Amino acid sequence: MVIVMKPEAKREAVEKIQRKMESLGCQVHGSRGENYWILGLVGDTSKIDSSQIEANENVQKLLKVQHPFKLASRLFHPEDTIVEVDHLKIGGGNLAIMAGPCSVESHDQLMTIAQEVKSHGAQFLRGGAFKPRTSPYSFQGLGEEGLKLLKKAKELTGMPIVTEVMCQETFDVVEAYGDILQIGARNMQNFPLLKKAGKSKRPILLKRGLSATIEELLMSAEYIMAEGNPNVILCERGIRTFETYTRNTLDISAIPVIKELSHLPIIVDPSHATGKWSMVEPLSKAAVAVGTDGLIIEVHHQPEQALSDGAQSLKPQKFAHLMKSIKGMMALEK
Ligand code: PEP
Ligand code: MN
Repeated sequence: MVIVMKPEAKREAVEKIQRKMESLGCQVHGSRGENYWILGLVGDTSKIDSSQIEANENVQKLLKVQHPFKLASRLFHPEDTIVEVDHLKIGGGNLAIMAGPCSVESHDQLMTIAQEVKSHGAQFLRGGAFKPRTSPYSFQGLGEEGLKLLKKAKELTGMPIVTEVMCQETFDVVEAYGDILQIGARNMQNFPLLKKAGKSKRPILLKRGLSATIEELLMSAEYIMAEGNPNVILCERGIRTFETYTRNTLDISAIPVIKELSHLPIIVDPSHATGKWSMVEPLSKAAVAVGTDGLIIEVHHQPEQALSDGAQSLKPQKFAHLMKSIKGMMALEK
């Protein structure tokens, strides 16, 4: 952190800030330029409230050298984090494929889709039992009944379960059934929920908020990690832009950016990013090309009857085609 003092700042004012910063635990190196006093802060700056410094009338500006996230930062953890679930690896150059319906709707629906996606190469089964819907009148999910069906589907196919946890009240029941707990875009900054997830033994799939910056996503990961859970998987699922043709805009640059900034695995959800099934394969390929650690894809055998997100759900044959294209890309890389 660097504090640039105003040209007219008096020596006493500069020294006062310097003493305050030192009392908060960092070392301060002052230097006087022709017009400005510059204070360079090194060491532990975590106790410093930058907005208090900016509020000081003698301060011209404050420059932050480091990112505000630490545990999620690649600076302090250069090697990739690899999250392991039932001997499957997410991160570190492995491509994890998660697929399944948006919502668990019925026994037959889930078992059909689970077997289809498994047969085409999915490693994880996704499916929501508690659904965060924009309208309170839309299907809200089967709740615990849906979780029981997910458990059955796991017994049938062997695939670990990715399912959303929406609130603290239902956290324990979702944790009892899910192998990876998803925190959805709408809850990315639900800080009490993030803290609860930080105390869980389960890996957390943290989706980027609808209008969240990459730094905000990493700060939410930091919340989970600060409570003791190091197994966070980030997910780019499209953000709000002025473009309305697609449901959201897939921020493809977020993948290489996050790989630079963080050691955490980052996967892509092309289904929610686009809202259109026809865009899912091209954007999956784009995600693989920029180095995603995985994909989470909505698949439904009867999308026209789906209780949520039918328009973005791939039919099993289309999912099979996508998997073939991706395998072709991976073979080319080798
Ligand atoms: C979902 O995965 O079904 C979902 C609701 O995703 P998001 O939180 O990204 O909208
Ligand atoms: Mn969905």
